[in-house]
Parts: sequence; C-alpha cells; structure tokens
Amino acid sequence: MKRRKLVQKLKEMGLTIWEGVPLARYTTIRTGGTAEIMVFPERVEELVKTWHFLRTESIPYFILSGGSKVLFPDEGFSGVVVNLRRLKGLKELAPGRLEALSGTPTSALIAYGLTKGFSGAEFLAGIPATVGGALYMNAGAFGRCFSELVEELEILTEEGLVRLAAGPELWRYRAFQGPRGVFVRAVVRLKPALKEEVRSRVKAALSRRRQTQPFGPPSFGCVFKNPEEAPAGYLIEKAGLKGLARGGAVISEKHANFILNLGKACTNDILYLVEEAWERVFRTFGLELQPEVRIVGQA
Ligand SMILES: Cc1cc2nc3c(=O)[nH]c(=O)nc-3n(C[C@H](O)[C@H](O)[C@H](O)COP(=O)(O)OP(=O)(O)OC[C@H]3O[C@@H](n4cnc5c(N)ncnc54)[C@H](O)[C@@H]3O)c2cc1C
Repeated sequence: MKRRKLVQKLKEMGLTIWEGVPLARYTTIRTGGTAEIMVFPERVEELVKTWHFLRTESIPYFILSGGSKVLFPDEGFSGVVVNLRRLKGLKELAPGRLEALSGTPTSALIAYGLTKGFSGAEFLAGIPATVGGALYMNAGAFGRCFSELVEELEILTEEGLVRLAAGPELWRYRAFQGPRGVFVRAVVRLKPALKEEVRSRVKAALSRRRQTQPFGPPSFGCVFKNPEEAPAGYLIEKAGLKGLARGGAVISEKHANFILNLGKACTNDILYLVEEAWERVFRTFGLELQPEVRIVGQA
C-alpha cells in the first residue's frame, strides 16, 4: 500500500499519526533512524482496529512502549511503529488490586503503593518500564520479577481480545511464553503494608541500583541475559571489555553488561560493542550470551 493511502486509512481510524519520526526520541538508548509512520492509539478499540488492519494488509509494524529495551537500526523503520505510551490508565478494582492499561508506567504502581500503603512493586523502582514492556520482558531485579504481581492479563491475539489467568507457566526468565499478541491490560495484586516500609524498600532498591549500575548516560539497562553459569556483566568484565569504546558508545566501567551512549552514539556503534562482547565471552568462556535487548531487524 502506498504511504499516502496508508496514512489516510490510519487517519480514518481516528489515530494520532506522525510521519518521519526520529526513533532516538522514543528509546532510552537514544539511537535509531526515523520511523516512516508512528501512531499513538489512546483507546483499546483504536489499538484493536489498527492492529487488525496492519496484519490484514501485511504492513510491517513494531509495538513500542517505553522504548527502554529496544535498539532500532540507523536506517530507521519502514512501516508503522505502534506507540502505546498513550494507552494508559490505572483503575483500583479493590484495595491493592489494580487494573493497568499496557502503556501505564510501572512507576504508577509504586506510587500507588507509597500513597495507599501497599507493597510488591518496590523492586521495580529505577526500571523505566511500562506495564506492557514489563509483561513482555518479565522485568525483574533483586530476585523478583513482574510476573509475580500479575493475576490476570488481556492480550490482543488473532482470536481477538483474550483474558487469561496469569499462572507462572506463562513466563520464564526475562520472557513471556504465552499466546502471541499485544498486551492490552493486566490486573496486578499488591499486599497491604506500612507506608514507611514501602518507602524504605523503594529507597533501598534505588540506592542499590545507584551503587551497582551507571547512572546518567542513556542505556537500555542490561544488554545480555545472565546465563546460569555467571552474571553476564562478570563474564564481559573478565573478558577484559570494561571501557571498550566505539564512536560515541562505551561498555560501562561500573557494570560491564551496560552499554552507554555518551552523546553521539549511533546504533552501529552499539551493535559493534554487543558483537564484540558476545565474541570475546564466547572465545574466553565458551558461553553464548543471549541478548536481552530487542534488536529490531534481527530475529
Ligand atoms: C537504566 C535502565 C535500567 C534498567 N533496569 C532493568 C532491570 O533492572 N530489570 C529489567 O528487567 N529491565 C531493566 N531495564 C530494561 C527495561 O526497562 C525493561 O525491560 C522494561 O520492561 C521494558 O519496558 P518498555 O515499556 O520500555 O518496553 P519497550 O522497550 O518499549 O519494549 C520492549 C519489548 O516489549 C515489546 N512490547 C512492549 N509493549 C508491548 C505490549 N503492550 N504488547 C506486546 N509487546 C510489547 C516490544 O515490542 C519490545 O520487543 C532497564 C532499562 C534502563 C534504561
């Protein structure tokens, strides 16, 4: 379908549409070329219509939320980036039982816990996620993961909107393994707790993060999943790669599983460091690291 006709069709669905959008503005690593088209569904019905249309017409698309685990190519993305940041909202179903639309920042769950006295989401402090991204990645830290909080899910699949009870079999380490589709909403359960306790757990999570992870320059958190044998950061450090730089990107001196954009990095700089870390860890330890970050354009 020609671009003008595509834009016209998307406009007819009532969507906010931007063309030629710099992807660096929508990813925490701040790299990537331009998205041919970016749409911002604000209501579930808009998302449903858009998704079915893109699939029926075989138009390439990418589901983007907070953009904190995504690396887009310098060449950009030809097709439609469906940006879910405006599909947000948090509803209290009962005390501590919350329904969140997928574009809701996970920080809203922490804020709820802090103001109303509910615990469970504190470990997410400092992770710049949305609910949809946290479901897809099963975001986690300090031995906890997002799936532990989730009671129910709604996913947009080929069969339409599907509601699921969220059992542990749906997730594994940093991955969702249930039906393929777009996360629309989740029901999350937090436990009653003293506000002071919640506050001190949030503070502890943030301070642990500041002690162990670089703070400031753009990144996407950890680049690789931790293999069973040892943390990826330890392996990359022992392979001698801390401080390795390429263009405007560098492997962090503080935590070797972080690649930082020091200001002018492009995606190819980052990819060079990702590949170098993979190669050197493989040559040194015989271990094949698995990227945690979603590298768009690679399977
Ligand atoms: C400084 C920093 C620290 C971090 N620390 C941690 C950490 O401690 N632990 C951790 O787990 N992560 C960490 N991250 C990574 C990241 O924040 C999480 O993985 C987060 O869950 C990604 O959410 P997002 O909304 O940004 O998703 P995005 O980056 O937008 O998307 C990530 C993937 O999910 C898919 N996706 C997003 N929304 C949906 C949806 N609604 N339906 C279907 N698919 C969807 C996307 O297509 C993409 O493949 C960190 C990142 C940064 C920048």
